[in-house]
Amino acid sequence: MKICKTGILFFILIQFHPQIIHAEKIVNAQEWYTYDRMREDLKLLKRKYREEMEIELVGKSEFGQNIWAAKIGQGRENIIILGGHHGREWLTTSLVMTKLEYYLKAYKKNQKLFGYDPKLLDEVSIWFIPMVNPDGVRIQQEGIGFLPEQSQRRLLRMNNNNPDFDRWKANGLGIDLNRQYPTGWEHIKEKTSVPSYQYYKGTFPLQAKEVKAVVSFTRERKPLMAVTYHSSGRVLYWYFKNDEAAVKRDKKIADQLSKITGYPLDQPEEHAVGGGFSDWFVAEFKRPSFTPEISYFVEDTNPPLSVFEEEWNRNKKVGIYLVAKSKKLFLNSNGSDEKEVE
Ligand SMILES: [Zn+2]
Repeated sequence: MKICKTGILFFILIQFHPQIIHAEKIVNAQEWYTYDRMREDLKLLKRKYREEMEIELVGKSEFGQNIWAAKIGQGRENIIILGGHHGREWLTTSLVMTKLEYYLKAYKKNQKLFGYDPKLLDEVSIWFIPMVNPDGVRIQQEGIGFLPEQSQRRLLRMNNNNPDFDRWKANGLGIDLNRQYPTGWEHIKEKTSVPSYQYYKGTFPLQAKEVKAVVSFTRERKPLMAVTYHSSGRVLYWYFKNDEAAVKRDKKIADQLSKITGYPLDQPEEHAVGGGFSDWFVAEFKRPSFTPEISYFVEDTNPPLSVFEEEWNRNKKVGIYLVAKSKKLFLNSNGSDEKEVE
């Protein structure tokens, strides 16, 4: 009888906790990365890296889903890395989550991160917000079935009555979250003046709950640098009307990031200038923010899973490089002879 009970218990564990068997890696970027998957992975990571990470609620989306943040390191300063501003760009969420797990493992075992000492994270931590727009991601991945009926009708209209939501970029109210930040918002060249699957800037900045939450979270933590991942096109935006005094400093870092990722530096199209996270971050903190567009160019949809491995390889160093750079620029103001790993 006893053996039998143990057998049943083991069976239940295998059925409902596959991670017990495949304990090695939690984040799986080889599958469509969903809101539920992210939530579950954050829980599992916290269980595995109890001491090394912190999880915080940034706020709620328009349809009541949680926007999560995770911090690695004990630094008194921090940098911030965001993904998933746009529904169809959830591959940036898998990228950010993969980075979080990879860095946690090295940090816990005190193993070098691409030549950098993981203890740097005890001087400059990293805050990750992997999915700024959970409603938009769900709409793009599952369609509108999870929303109240009235909203479904509205969203269908915003999608030009196309039942395929593959191209959805906005939040659950048809507002483009990267046209909502309060810097240069009034100068955004409007591509649409009504809520839409993409490009609608709203009637005033910080109208979208998601952006309001990200702004107050960021203001509380005052990061030294920021990276906000988008897709697609494999380019790196770095210039957001940075102060004259800061241009030289920030261009140098951008050049280095361009070398690391292989993404050429670029200027955003005219209609996309202003209202973005990086526009706001650079203006508010007078510190650098970078917007990489991952994946080769795909028209109005999510990049394919097959591109992930290459994008991960291009981007895996970015976080720790910026931690080291932040320390050098902002913490060692009296000069340091510390050698920089490139
Ligand atoms: Zn985007």
